Amino acid sequence: MSAATFVVAGASTACASNRHPVKGNAKARSAALGARRAVASRGDVRELSSERHASFRASTARVGARRASPVTPRALDAAQPFDFEAKQRQKVEKKRTLKIGIVGFGNFGQFLAKRFIKNGHDVIATSRSDYGSIAAELNVGYYRDPDDFCEMHPDVVIFCTSILSTEATINAFPMQRLRRNTLVADVLSVKQFPKQLFLQRMPENFDILCLHPMFGPDSGKGSWKDLPLVYDKVRVGEEKSRRERVERLLSVFEDEGCRMVEMSCEEHDIQAASSQFITHTVGRMLGTMELGETTINTKGYESLLSLVNNTYNDSFDLYYGLFMYNKNATAELSRLELAFSQVKAQLFDRLHTLIRDDIFDEASVPTGLRSGNGKARNGGGGDTPAEERTFKDRLIDQVNSGGSLGGSTDEKERGDKSAREEGAASR
Ligand code: NAP
Repeated sequence: MSAATFVVAGASTACASNRHPVKGNAKARSAALGARRAVASRGDVRELSSERHASFRASTARVGARRASPVTPRALDAAQPFDFEAKQRQKVEKKRTLKIGIVGFGNFGQFLAKRFIKNGHDVIATSRSDYGSIAAELNVGYYRDPDDFCEMHPDVVIFCTSILSTEATINAFPMQRLRRNTLVADVLSVKQFPKQLFLQRMPENFDILCLHPMFGPDSGKGSWKDLPLVYDKVRVGEEKSRRERVERLLSVFEDEGCRMVEMSCEEHDIQAASSQFITHTVGRMLGTMELGETTINTKGYESLLSLVNNTYNDSFDLYYGLFMYNKNATAELSRLELAFSQVKAQLFDRLHTLIRDDIFDEASVPTGLRSGNGKARNGGGGDTPAEERTFKDRLIDQVNSGGSLGGSTDEKERGDKSAREEGAASR
């Protein structure tokens, strides 16, 4: 990188003129000017044409202007913050075209390929199935045979295979045909698993970058603005070109507006189990319920429908992978199950208590047992005799009284009993 060295013209410095080429030049020029002025004063200028007079005046004006200017750039040798040329060069370098190879050209592989191409990169792909015609439409070079794919020497190879098939795909992948310092990356929705696979199976001179775009073909259909991209630079060589290659790949997501989150693969899996896995589980449950549009959709219901849309279309392999290959998922599933049982128990406990009240009330009317809300059976329902009041009447009665639905005889009895025990203890 280079920038200007500056000399303050006209400032008297301690620097000797013979050691200072710029100042030396200025001296020489002003000596020449003096000589010309002397000639002019001897009257020899009378022979000079008016044209030469004009040029003489212009050159005098130029020297004067140069003297008046406070700063004069002379040489380019060191970086300065205002050096736009250097900044521009950095930008161009960042944008330099990558040859990106995609392994697994399914739903997500194609989705990524479109954005890479939009960002000016060359994309080639390989996959188990034949995607030749789709690839041609997208302007992607398609190689059914992974050997042919590797011999195209992509700068970056991104595994977009299903979580379940990634290990087998990597085991069978002819990486010896790739360039010696290829950058390998993955976009699996779990991160610790591919990181370990890469570290175990990839040659040591390969760089490793683990990525997780936390969005998919549905949620990232339009803009990627503020959508999170989690990345972990697991292993990147020291050379500048290798670090720049990683930055160039990341810049695709950055330039698309993603929220860039650098995070270890381990931390990702902890956080993803309680966010992404739960989201997918609830989305799948609701999808299985086959929720449909109603004419009175609330905002909350709309968001449930959009949750189903964003998750239910993903392959079951993907969902199963989120569970099987993230060791934190089992605990989260148990927590979800427990929470559901607790909520359900709360509902059924109250209902159960109410039904029991009803059974006991019916049986004990003659002995004067009280109804669930603690009122005398014939007291709470206006003029209706207690015996004629229905279960629903009593329910409404209880809600109106502000008491809990399950304000049962049992609870009241429990309260009385503990009051009696407290009294006995204080005595
Ligand atoms: P997927 O069902 O998880 O994966 C489909 C891809 O895996 C296809 O390319 C398919 O190849 C390949 N594949 C499946 N079984 C294979 C096998 N036995 N041998 C070789 N290849 C096999 O669906 P996806 O949505 O495209 O996801 C791909 C990757 O992206 C996954 O790792 C997923 O976790 C990740 N991801 C997905 C999303 C999303 O929203 N969809 C978001 C972020 C990350 P063929 O089509 O050639 O059979």
